[in-house]
Amino acid sequence: MTQSSEARNARHKRAMQRKKAHVDERIANATIDKGLIVVLTGNGKGKSSSAFGMLARSVGHGLRCGVVQFIKGQWECGEQLLFQDHPLVSFHVMNTGFTWETQDREADIAAAESTWQQAEKLLQDNAVNVVLLDELTYMLTYGYLDASRVLDCLRNRPEGQHVIITGRNASQALMELADTVSEVQDTKHAFNAGIKVQPGIDY
Ligand code: ATP
Ligand code: MG
Repeated sequence: MTQSSEARNARHKRAMQRKKAHVDERIANATIDKGLIVVLTGNGKGKSSSAFGMLARSVGHGLRCGVVQFIKGQWECGEQLLFQDHPLVSFHVMNTGFTWETQDREADIAAAESTWQQAEKLLQDNAVNVVLLDELTYMLTYGYLDASRVLDCLRNRPEGQHVIITGRNASQALMELADTVSEVQDTKHAFNAGIKVQPGIDY
């Protein structure tokens, strides 16, 4: 080994030791154990797929999960096909299509209300460890659900229960209540280049 590569390796080792000390200290300081609210918002692709990634992790750990999807897409999504009959997952899907397809505000409000009742049951159930409320934010931005009722229900859920919420334009109040918020940025999307939706990647 040349002298300069020896010096470089030694510098690297010192830098890694400092980094490890810093990371170890931060891990030692994180002592609180609690149920989290995770909000995934923004215009980029990756919100629901990240949420279902956490659901897969949770199921892997044997946790009991509930899913409520507030917008039913045109295609049967892979996450539903995978999880709907899973013994650890209770899966509910709103029984109408996209709002620009139904074009009926009264029917949308009724569907939002009955779908929210499924969510409420999960958010009151001590035995449910993880609740995923996919595309919930649209019900709030369209005013289909009362925001304060939703926030109260989230606040009063069983201690230790995790909630994952997805959808664009999450409200300030929801983001303040959350413990973790990620905004996915839209840098580029294949659909805008005329590419068809792809099973596995898009649904
Ligand atoms: P995904 O389910 O892929 O994680 P998402 O939950 O972040 O996406 P949604 O707004 O729920 O995004 O849209 C779901 C569908 O729309 C997916 O098929 C996704 O690929 C597509 N999509 C998401 N973001 C964009 C975008 N910025 N431009 C075009 N299509 C998008
Ligand atoms: Mg989504």
